[in-house]
Amino acid sequence: MSDLLPSADVVDCPPGQAVAPVIESYPARKAALPGGLVVRRVLPRAGRRMVGPWCFLDHYGPLSFDAGKPMDIGPHPHIGLQTVTWLIEGEALHHDSLGHERLIRPGQLNLMTAGSGISHAEETPSRSSGRLHGVQLWVALPEARRHGPPAFDHYAELPIAAIGSVRAAVLMGDLAGARSPATAHSPMVGAEVVAGSDGEARVPLDPRFEHALVLIDGRAALGERVLEPATLYYLGTGRDALNLSARAGSRLVLLGGEPFGEHILMWWNFVARTPDEIAQARRDWEQESRRFGSVPAYAGARIPAPPLSPRVRAPE
Ligand code: MN
Repeated sequence: MSDLLPSADVVDCPPGQAVAPVIESYPARKAALPGGLVVRRVLPRAGRRMVGPWCFLDHYGPLSFDAGKPMDIGPHPHIGLQTVTWLIEGEALHHDSLGHERLIRPGQLNLMTAGSGISHAEETPSRSSGRLHGVQLWVALPEARRHGPPAFDHYAELPIAAIGSVRAAVLMGDLAGARSPATAHSPMVGAEVVAGSDGEARVPLDPRFEHALVLIDGRAALGERVLEPATLYYLGTGRDALNLSARAGSRLVLLGGEPFGEHILMWWNFVARTPDEIAQARRDWEQESRRFGSVPAYAGARIPAPPLSPRVRAPE
């Protein structure tokens, strides 16, 4: 997806501090879009800009609709990141400048690696379930990969780890012996954790990673700490497990990774290192340069870049 809450300012995301186990909570920033879709910006937040290489998490929906397209995001560019698309309900149709066309459903993963530049469009297909609920995640690419060629992969099935009362679908990296087939370019984990029954689970973690947890739906606690929805819980490094308790049907997202050692800047749909790189990518998009290709399979107009301010600031 495109950044649905764009700002003119460049957002500064310096390398995170690796800290011992903590529980820090950051409420999401919420916005209702025209058409009724509610978007919760969980990452980046003021005070917590990254979790390992994870630099962006929007949780959108759930939404019911009778007609039309609640998701209709025309062609837009990305650089320097991977988009990790995960649906909880509904369907989305992806088209990109490499010529991929792919319908995604719940339980499947779309992983788009922007590298030096790609453009894509996403829309609700003409035949749909009338529901939409999902998360949009971005992973910052390390220096060694961010200038490389774009790529797109679809994974129709992901490994599931059964851990106590929960089942974890492993989107990126590995968890409890289950390894995602998706290509990661730095050490990380990303998983959707769903409770099959009321109960508890001891989820094993890599203590070198920093981690974060987001309650998407239901009721859950981390140890004694009851989790609020629409909140990022940053858990620090140095944990070898999470002691989760959850009611049946509860759903959480677990993110983690080695603290990302590079200082990134984010603006609109770009992850870069300098304001000049961002300005160049913006010009390349506005001038329809070959860098980003085109998405002829999408019937509507491309999304123009928002204004770019010279200001660099912390996330809101
Ligand atoms: Mn996008």
